[in-house]
Order: sequence, then C-alpha cells, then structure tokens
Amino acid sequence: MRFPFVLSAKIAAHIVKHKLKRTPRFAMVLQLEPLHTCNLSCTGCGRIREYSTSLKDMVPLEKCLAAAAECDAPMVSICGGEPLIYPHIEELVQGLLAQKRIVYICTNGVFMRRKLVDYLASVYDPGREPLLKELLAEGLITEAQAATIRKGRANGKPVIAPTKWLYWNVHVDVPVQPLGGGDDRLAVRAAFANRRRLGLGDEPLGQKLLE
Ligand code: SF4
Repeated sequence: MRFPFVLSAKIAAHIVKHKLKRTPRFAMVLQLEPLHTCNLSCTGCGRIREYSTSLKDMVPLEKCLAAAAECDAPMVSICGGEPLIYPHIEELVQGLLAQKRIVYICTNGVFMRRKLVDYLASVYDPGREPLLKELLAEGLITEAQAATIRKGRANGKPVIAPTKWLYWNVHVDVPVQPLGGGDDRLAVRAAFANRRRLGLGDEPLGQKLLE
C-alpha cells in the first residue's frame, strides 16, 4: 500500500472533524516554502525565475512553525526552491512532526543522501554494522559514506530521522547548470533512478531504514 493506513485515518479524521463542525473551507495540505533559492537551475523551472527578486529571502523557523500551527492542515509539503538548503530544515521537520503533521520534503535529491547519512551517523554504534553491510551490499550507501557514518556525529546537531510520517518527494526538471560539480550530476541521476524505481520518488535508503 502506498499510503499507510494510519496516515489515511489521520486525514479522514481531519475531514470528518470539519464536516461535523460544518467548516465551509479547510486546508488539507500546507505548501510551505521556507526559501525560494535552489542549488540547481533547471530548464523550464518557473520557480527560480518568478521569484528571482526574492531568492535570498528566508522565512524564519518560528514563522514557518507558526504558519503550520495556524493552518492546521494534516499534511505539510516543504517546497522551495530547494528545502534541504534551508539552514533550519532539520529543526523545521522536527517541529512539524512534533505538531503531528505528515511531512513531505519536495527535493531535487542532491542533498537527500547526505541528510540520511547524517541520521545514520547520529545513531551509529558497532551493533549497527550488519545494517551498514546490508546497505553497502545493496548500493544504498558508498564506502566513503559508511566511513563517515562510523565516525558518528558528536556535534549534537539535529538530524532528519526516517519515520512513517515523513516522505521524500524527488522532483527535478532537466538540470542544465548543477552547481557544485560532478557530484551534483551523479546525485540528480540517482534521484531520477530512485524515482523510476519507486514510482513517486520516495527515497530507497529512507524506505530501507523504515523496514
Ligand atoms: S530543482 Fe526544482 S526548484 Fe530547483 S531549479 Fe530545478 S525545478 Fe527549479
């Protein structure tokens, strides 16, 4: 099943609540755009052109969380620009999950694996070696990423932890100017491959960590 039952039940409860209250209009999804800037420049992307005058603007974390609380939609889609370059993305995701929202991160995929590697490093202990070996065998992480994970994460910074309430939605138009070198091209190719494999772009490593 693509959408777990608990999530469907949460959305159904939201609809029933507002029907009973006879709310004339209510939000199902909040599209939250904490920033408009992006690390790519895809052909045909209206976003980075329409918002060319506000590419440097960012919505403060507190304002993002307050908007979600005020809107009270069960789902929050964090878009951009590229949300994974928002400097408070981890705190934003944690805050939305604390509000019991279903969170979608609409990303071009370039920094997705890095965020999941951060998570694995934050929870690493030698008992996780079998999982690491499995991820390596399935090509979901590289040897270099495994080495990073084994170092752990001592800085105490928040991470984005996989949960059934969090979805990765990989989107990208034709990338013509990847910023940041060859790795970006590889990551975008990986994002396309992931998208093909799972239909709507859910991240295979994230899925694996939920199993
Ligand atoms: S990744 Fe998305 S937001 Fe960024 S340039 Fe491409 S289409 Fe636009």
